[in-house]
Amino acid sequence: MSLKNCKRCGKLFNIRGYTYNVCKDCLEKDNADFERLRQYILTHPYASVLELSQETGVEPAVITRFHREGRFINREKQEGNLLCAQCGAPVPAGQFCKECGTQTPRKNR
Ligand SMILES: [Zn+2]
Ligand SMILES: [Zn+2]
Repeated sequence: MSLKNCKRCGKLFNIRGYTYNVCKDCLEKDNADFERLRQYILTHPYASVLELSQETGVEPAVITRFHREGRFINREKQEGNLLCAQCGAPVPAGQFCKECGTQTPRKNR
């Protein structure tokens, strides 16, 4: 079984030696959409799906699929690059993660 439904047009295509969720015909459109989203997210890292869709013209279903496929995650990791000063866990903002933040870190009394 190496057939799969294209996530864009629904067509069955052969996935042997092929790792995408869309058929070859749609791959170009998919990549173009992704590139537009990527550009927008560079300057608006916390844009919602709705905002992204309105600003880039990419269908919300396509955006949520990219999210599901984890295509945005690597970029966010690279850009965020914030780690807890105590345990090294990634944090969205600030110096400490939630756990270390509540333990009054580095406060010698
Ligand atoms: Zn397709
Ligand atoms: Zn921590």
